[in-house]
Amino acid sequence: MRLYEASPVTSLTRDGAGWIVTTATGSVHAEHVVLSCGGYLAGLRREIDASILPIATYILVTEPLGARLADCFGTRAAIYDTRFAFDYYRPLTDTRILWGGRISVLDRSPAQVKALLTKDLQKVFPSLAGVRVDYAWSGLMSYARHQMPQIGQSEPNLWFAQGFGGHGVAPTTLAGETLASAIAEGGDGWKQFSRFGLASAYKPAGLLAAQLSYSRAQLKDRYNEFIEGIF
Ligand SMILES: Cc1cc2nc3c(=O)[nH]c(=O)nc-3n(C[C@H](O)[C@H](O)[C@H](O)COP(=O)(O)OP(=O)(O)OC[C@H]3O[C@@H](n4cnc5c(N)ncnc54)[C@H](O)[C@@H]3O)c2cc1C
Repeated sequence: MRLYEASPVTSLTRDGAGWIVTTATGSVHAEHVVLSCGGYLAGLRREIDASILPIATYILVTEPLGARLADCFGTRAAIYDTRFAFDYYRPLTDTRILWGGRISVLDRSPAQVKALLTKDLQKVFPSLAGVRVDYAWSGLMSYARHQMPQIGQSEPNLWFAQGFGGHGVAPTTLAGETLASAIAEGGDGWKQFSRFGLASAYKPAGLLAAQLSYSRAQLKDRYNEFIEGIF
């Protein structure tokens, strides 16, 4: 088996029962194709892309904090809070803090993510005023309108596994094993996911709806914090 990393696929064309998979530098014939491009599928296969919303989420990593870390954490465990729009964070072995939070339809630049998440970080840890942030980035997840992963076959020998936003990495393994079994052994486990199919995400209106729904949840979080006297 050969793996071709860093080879973005630019098109898929039917070739008998299989496919011609094309990149900028070459093409291969594939008996089966599995599309598992998360929030990055855009345009590669219109009917499959139409069913997911690409939603961004953000990460920040501080400078090594040395002894200052003990002012923030009494544990090496990961922490998250109970709001819908929650923050999650943990200390790294080199005394940095890795901090994640927020979702948005905006795939912000590292500088914007840094500014936004630094405020969130310092709200929870005021002792970190002036801390240097060494890394910040944004990534895309894919969300389905029904909010369930989409695992299945859209036409003969074209498979998909996407829509894991909100579910994390765990079910991606299940999807990989289920589709590998379907392709290699004719397994039919993937049929159990058929009821959560490729429902249209109604882009671009769906993106606006997703952002409004998240903003509403954020407002609700703030109201609850106010009532509970937090912050
Ligand atoms: C910033 C951030 C933080 C997160 N934190 C957590 C967390 O703490 N815990 C958790 O469980 N989940 C987390 N998630 C969610 C988790 O990463 C996703 O649910 C999961 O990675 C989805 O897996 P996937 O295989 O569907 O997509 P991805 O992991 O996005 O993989 C898609 C792959 O497809 C490739 N690809 C796309 N287009 C093409 C193309 N045209 N040709 C070839 N290759 C292509 C991409 O390069 C990529 O490697 C986070 C996500 C982000 C963005």
